[in-house]
Amino acid sequence: MSQDVILEARGLSKEFKGFIAVKEVNLQVRRGTIHALIGPNGAGKSTVFNLLTKFLTPTRGQIVYKGRDITAMKPADVALLGLVRSFQISAVFPHLSVLENVRVALQRPLGTSFHFWKPESSLHGLRDRAMELIEAVNLTPWANHTAAELPYGRKRALEIATTLALDPEVMLLDEPLAGMGHEDIERTAALIKRVSADRTILMVEHNLSVVAHLSDTITVLRRGEILAEGPYDVVSRNPQVMEAYMGT
Ligand code: ADP
Ligand code: MG
Repeated sequence: MSQDVILEARGLSKEFKGFIAVKEVNLQVRRGTIHALIGPNGAGKSTVFNLLTKFLTPTRGQIVYKGRDITAMKPADVALLGLVRSFQISAVFPHLSVLENVRVALQRPLGTSFHFWKPESSLHGLRDRAMELIEAVNLTPWANHTAAELPYGRKRALEIATTLALDPEVMLLDEPLAGMGHEDIERTAALIKRVSADRTILMVEHNLSVVAHLSDTITVLRRGEILAEGPYDVVSRNPQVMEAYMGT
């Protein structure tokens, strides 16, 4: 696994009417890793996420993806380059079946970002490719059910499948385990691990035991600034990190 930087924030800042939500954040996400962004409520995690995916425009700073400055780009164009945020660009249609949802996602005209399975991207290959993705997220028994019929955890799995259909190089997951019960948490954590085998993952997640288990690198934010960074055993021993968590 190469350890070069695929996504980078340089001096990223965001002010909302004078309130500094994100301050001079320098973040480096290495290719092929699972990188978690954690921190107490209001730390600026969602704002950083929205900045990286271009749903928000930074007040200052730059976002560099694969060596290219994407600060001025639109979210859809960023997605075209392979930087895709789950649950946002990949909408799930409740009245379509699981299979139809994934097929629709596969048919999105995302042009060059389909390099990964271009040879199979004919109409004939579409159903097979959709079933492969459905299998990958353990939804095969649900393939012909409508999305609306899925239990909550399975719906999130479908969202991951429709995101994977866009063939992202970097997948951003915003609280992928939120609202899940124990079984779905385990299933989704295992899915994230599998997905990370050939992609980079940046996630915001509150479930620290899963973060500890999955992440190569953890960045801790507090009041818009990076408080600590590193593997879990390093970050979790940092007294300032403990204090930040106890303090809220
Ligand atoms: P987190 O996701 O870590 O809980 P957020 O990024 O959502 O934190 O928010 C960081 C801070 O910025 C909070 O104090 C929040 O109230 C503020 N904030 C976020 N979005 C806006 C906005 N659109 N307008 C004003 N303040 C905002
Ligand atoms: Mg948030």
